[in-house]
Amino acid sequence: MSVVVIGAGLSGLSAACHLVGRGHEVTLVERHDAAGGRGLRLRRDGFTFDTGPTVMTMPDLVGDALTAAGTSLHDALPMRLLDPAYRARFDDGSQILVRHGVEAMRQEIADTCGSVDAASFVDFVDWLRKLYRVEMPHFIDANFDSPLDLMANPRAAARLVRLGGFRRLGPVIRDWFRDERLHRLFSFQALYAGLSPENALALYAVITYMDSIEGVWWPEGGMDAVPAALATAASKAGADLRYGATVSRLVLDRRGAVAGLELESGERIRADAVVCTLDLPTAYEQLLPQLSAPRVVRSGSYSPSAVVWHVGARGLPAEGTAHHNIHFGSDWDGAFRALIDDRRLMPDPSRLVSVPSLTEPGLAPPGDSALYVLEPVPNLSAGIDWEREREPMRERLHGFLTANGYPDEVLTEELVTPLEWQQLGMHQGTPFSLAHTFLQTGPFRPGNLDRRVPGLVFAGSGTVPGVGVPMVLVSGKLAAERVDAYLPGPHHGRDTR
Ligand SMILES: Cc1cc2nc3c(=O)[nH]c(=O)nc-3n(C[C@H](O)[C@H](O)[C@H](O)COP(=O)(O)OP(=O)(O)OC[C@H]3O[C@@H](n4cnc5c(N)ncnc54)[C@H](O)[C@@H]3O)c2cc1C
Repeated sequence: MSVVVIGAGLSGLSAACHLVGRGHEVTLVERHDAAGGRGLRLRRDGFTFDTGPTVMTMPDLVGDALTAAGTSLHDALPMRLLDPAYRARFDDGSQILVRHGVEAMRQEIADTCGSVDAASFVDFVDWLRKLYRVEMPHFIDANFDSPLDLMANPRAAARLVRLGGFRRLGPVIRDWFRDERLHRLFSFQALYAGLSPENALALYAVITYMDSIEGVWWPEGGMDAVPAALATAASKAGADLRYGATVSRLVLDRRGAVAGLELESGERIRADAVVCTLDLPTAYEQLLPQLSAPRVVRSGSYSPSAVVWHVGARGLPAEGTAHHNIHFGSDWDGAFRALIDDRRLMPDPSRLVSVPSLTEPGLAPPGDSALYVLEPVPNLSAGIDWEREREPMRERLHGFLTANGYPDEVLTEELVTPLEWQQLGMHQGTPFSLAHTFLQTGPFRPGNLDRRVPGLVFAGSGTVPGVGVPMVLVSGKLAAERVDAYLPGPHHGRDTR
């Protein structure tokens, strides 16, 4: 049975690996000339930049896809653990390193915040582990057909309630720690889910577990090595990868079921099933114009976006700079209020600065630095005029680099705003898709099937389980399970699930 996957981002590559491992005949079509999706590579003036994700967590999920396609993480994608995972800088000039390993982090907290919080950290890790163990198999790595599926395993649901998963993240973290800096350090991850810690459910502390406890990794060569390894594995296992091929519409049979797709070139590719990884609103608009998208896709609440400034700069950063540096602004609650409630730029922004050339010097000419500066900003529903706002934003980011000990003589640069994310097909100009409010999570998130179109399966950040590298890798696997259920029969795959 032939399956076509649209999109060689991480979700599409994961789907392709899992599908080919299950014995399907797989074709993957990608409009760009390389794999990577949001995480494409930009090479300029001797500098190399990764344009999308930089914080790589849960490498075993990449490993699952690689194993499904007959190779392994160890063989195909060597990675280095980053310790510290982050250097957090606060407005009072202090800093806390997020160290790898419970003992190292306990000691760091003891040194910076005192013994009471250090002791709490050990129990906090235990709580995070329990949360992760109940959420991963039952609520993340799971296909849902209806909200009732939440109760498919009542014991798991009850356990999540007992662990406080349905309380709000902000207050839960405040219960664990006294030092306000730790509140920020262990709850800012809510923003990855498009929410403020005060609105995010405590179950999103699993993101904190994934980065602060399980660790942040660096794939040798750069983030781009992840899609490259998955693409190579899928191809070696027999998938046909076609780059420079833009899909213009899905072809349906008389029943309305998937029969294939048409490329912009006019070529048609037959398919028994299609896995589509476009942002959901764009998928409906461009590939299925005859159908209206589900309500939550059309009018749900979309996450804030981000401005990313890629800078090739002369010189090296100040001593003590880490690969990933989070600079917290002073007014924490005000920042979230501005960004999410009022939909305006944060008055005193928190920013992420990654300096991958510290870990991988080949990304910059000798003695220079490749910098990635990210500031969360409202998505396009805020009506900010980014044509006008670009230059002032660049100036502010430049001043911020200067003030914080980063090299600031710009040799080459690229500023990406919500306008560019929109041009790439991301609804409301956000690369982070639907926010993970309760009613846009799990069985309430747009599902990966549209019952009106048998044989069509979605993957990627707009569907289950959600946003971010670990989640979209899982979404690819969930999509492969859906295809298997739709196209039953012996596929003789090596993926044993
Ligand atoms: C700036 C930024 C920073 C991020 N930071 C992190 C981070 O640190 N850690 C983390 O875990 N996550 C992070 N994320 C989120 C993470 O990168 C995404 O959730 C994930 O990469 C999305 O993968 P995807 O496969 O769903 O989508 P995509 O990567 O967008 O893949 C979709 C693919 O479909 C292709 N396509 C679209 N239309 C067509 C068409 N008509 N025909 C053919 N092909 C088509 C596109 O070219 C693309 O390759 C970040 C994202 C961004 C943008």
